[in-house]
Amino acid sequence: MPIHCYAAQAAKKPLGPFSYEPKPLGPWEIRVKISHCGICHSDIHLIDNDWKASSYPLVPGHEIVGTVNAAGSNVTQLKIGDRVGVGWQEGSCMECEWCARGEENLCPSSRAVCMNHYGGFGEEVQVDSRFAFKIPDVLESENAAPLLCGGATVYSPLRHYGVTTATKVGIIGIGGLGHLAIQFAKAFGCQVTAFSTTLEKETEAKKFGAHKFVLSKDSSQMKRAVRSLDFIVSTVCANVNWTSFMNVLRPNGKLCIVGVPPGNIQVSPHVLIGGQKSIAGSVIGSRAAIQEMLECAALHNIKAKTELMSLSEVNQACDKVRQGKARYRVVLKI
Ligand code: NAP
Ligand code: ZN
Repeated sequence: MPIHCYAAQAAKKPLGPFSYEPKPLGPWEIRVKISHCGICHSDIHLIDNDWKASSYPLVPGHEIVGTVNAAGSNVTQLKIGDRVGVGWQEGSCMECEWCARGEENLCPSSRAVCMNHYGGFGEEVQVDSRFAFKIPDVLESENAAPLLCGGATVYSPLRHYGVTTATKVGIIGIGGLGHLAIQFAKAFGCQVTAFSTTLEKETEAKKFGAHKFVLSKDSSQMKRAVRSLDFIVSTVCANVNWTSFMNVLRPNGKLCIVGVPPGNIQVSPHVLIGGQKSIAGSVIGSRAAIQEMLECAALHNIKAKTELMSLSEVNQACDKVRQGKARYRVVLKI
């Protein structure tokens, strides 16, 4: 039976109906009947070929929630009918040093669900069951879907870089990732500062848990924030004044890049040397981090603030994300 979905046939083109025959189910694979799929800005980067790595037809969608409707012979940890989530990563070699360490997100053979593989903007998806996660009962599918990529991507660096209650945290960009980052950093007990170019987001940023809000395009507000934070997560997909954010860090502070702006991030070496500061990156999250993140979300009532749209409205939905108008995550109801 073919799987019906939506695909882009070329860069920057609207998505249209598309169907494909799934491969026979491998021993570790499951098929998931999708109920919801979030739209991450990475889907837009892929559709638009911003990273020069897209191949078409491209079926986006990597914030998937649905139920298992078929399982291969090795699958014992999941059963038909389980409600699961699938994020960016669809598989890894499970043998290399990084997989053995439980850092599958760093595996050189990591496979993405919507690159050279058909993703979640459709009825069903077929993935390695070891990259599908049971969704805690208290989380609604609509609010849980964005956790699978957005949530994992902001939770993982907080853990990986050792954020504690004493860490003063900043989040740059209050979009899909950013609004979840505020909630997780608050749950970690941190003092949280939101940096946004959109003044209208102040009230909601504070509702998500930000203690302070800085309008980052206002240089006087940025000046007042100098030397105030230890760890900043940047979720922006555009270039900003990186030096001004490095100046917001206290000595030994770290700027962690998760958003993907075009081109290079440039700062003077003096900005790093004085104050012993660093710039780091982080990519999605390991399987353990995703599992832990879901439990943390369930415990602390962390949820994506969503706008639900139907799969047939996929092009309007993508435009909303492309134009920065989503508040704060558009989720497709399949
Ligand atoms: P999003 O919902 O569109 O949010 C991005 C936010 O960046 C916007 O809400 C806006 O926040 C800010 N922004 C947008 N344009 C800007 C500009 N010109 N100048 C300054 N700020 C701007 O996107 P998302 O889904 O959160 O994804 C963000 C980025 O993370 C994307 O590049 C995506 O590819 C990347 N990503 C990376 C990973 C990873 O593993 N590292 C995983 C998932 C996503 P304000 O209005 O508050 O300024
Ligand atoms: Zn994503």
